[in-house]
Amino acid sequence: MNHFELRDGADGLELHAEDVALAAIAEACGTPTYVYSRATIERHYRVMDEALGGVPNSICYAVKAASNLAILGLLAKLGAGFDIVSVGELERVLAAGGLPERVMFSGVGKRDDEIERALRVGIRCFNVESAWELERIEAVAERVGRRAPISVRVNPDVDPQTHAYIATGLRTSKFGVPMVEAQAMYRRAAASPHLHVVGIDCHIGSQITQVEPLAAALDRVLELVDALADEGIAIEHVDMGGGLGITYKDEEPAPPAAVGRAYAERLGPRGLELVVEPGRLIVGNAGVLLMRVLGVKTGEAKTFVIVDAAMNDNIRPSLYGAWQQLEPVCPSGRNETTVDVVGPICESGDFFARDRVLPEVRAGELLAMRSAGAYGFTMASTYNSRPRAAEVMVDGSRLTVVRERESLRALWAGERLLDEDDAGPSAI
Ligand SMILES: *Cc1c(COP(=O)(O)O)cnc(C)c1O
Repeated sequence: MNHFELRDGADGLELHAEDVALAAIAEACGTPTYVYSRATIERHYRVMDEALGGVPNSICYAVKAASNLAILGLLAKLGAGFDIVSVGELERVLAAGGLPERVMFSGVGKRDDEIERALRVGIRCFNVESAWELERIEAVAERVGRRAPISVRVNPDVDPQTHAYIATGLRTSKFGVPMVEAQAMYRRAAASPHLHVVGIDCHIGSQITQVEPLAAALDRVLELVDALADEGIAIEHVDMGGGLGITYKDEEPAPPAAVGRAYAERLGPRGLELVVEPGRLIVGNAGVLLMRVLGVKTGEAKTFVIVDAAMNDNIRPSLYGAWQQLEPVCPSGRNETTVDVVGPICESGDFFARDRVLPEVRAGELLAMRSAGAYGFTMASTYNSRPRAAEVMVDGSRLTVVRERESLRALWAGERLLDEDDAGPSAI
């Protein structure tokens, strides 16, 4: 459920975000603009929280899904922890008032400086993805004089039945370590004075719609927990990652409560704490990308609706062939037509929809792309020197610009012209 719906507006029905008309946002803030709904984010967090009621748990929001400070601050206030994959995300969490002791640090390639910063602020756990990374963490922990809390990200070799680019728990994936290797890493960690074994984790993929792969992954993880217990290595928490899917079109993802039950059944009797790292589920349907139609171009074989947002603003359709709903902000009642909705970027891959049936739209009208809250703005670039979109948060009838539209000057801030007269030595 989300709070984007058609309501009576100035000129008939209009798409609203909570109590604010999207047309009014376009007027005030321009386009393209990401619009988030606070009530929707909070609702999704609560749904997740209730779904896990059967077992002691921590919800660590995956920052990479949407990392605006306003979103992080909101979730921190609700009591969320955070799953990060870089020091940049760590600093965002801290800037937004998140607690370091609720931060999980995932990712296949952590640099020494990132490890050091995370140790100094006192994060909850490093999710370790390789034997060499364990060595780096141990070395940095020794130098800094702090014991590093660790969990090994295992690869349970389970097919999550999702898009290949977001399947992460197969043997062929770059993520995690195989079970056997994980056991050796735990032995090594348990023997080190600079490391502290606290958990075990996995994350088998994203946009998962069934309970079975997640339950199967947990069963495999628990086999290792048992094997470790036999060796006297105790695990405190099991982190099952994120991955719960949402409805973009006609998917019917398993309800979070069903996933929560499957986890609780397995973990409850063992007295293990459950950690989850949802991203998409919390913010995916809590955001739309608002755009304006620049013009309609009728080609020989197709009609193209050219909009002022593009693949640099939301790369999901281009990168994953993702389907996201597009709809007029002010429904016109005109006849339906079949069109491609494309951006102005110089790439044939710059499209939002192909052969999409939409009511006829005209230049100057507004469109909203739904389900744009997750992996939308965070994957935006400035390709074609297009400043990144504004981000706004709606809360009832209140509208806050939570990130200004990037300025043109910001695009080349930090760049230099070559100084042809200066023949002096280089600064490096
Ligand atoms: C991306 C990611 C998540 C979040 O995935 P969603 O599908 O958005 O829930 C959680 N944990 C890890 C380690 C990730 O890489």
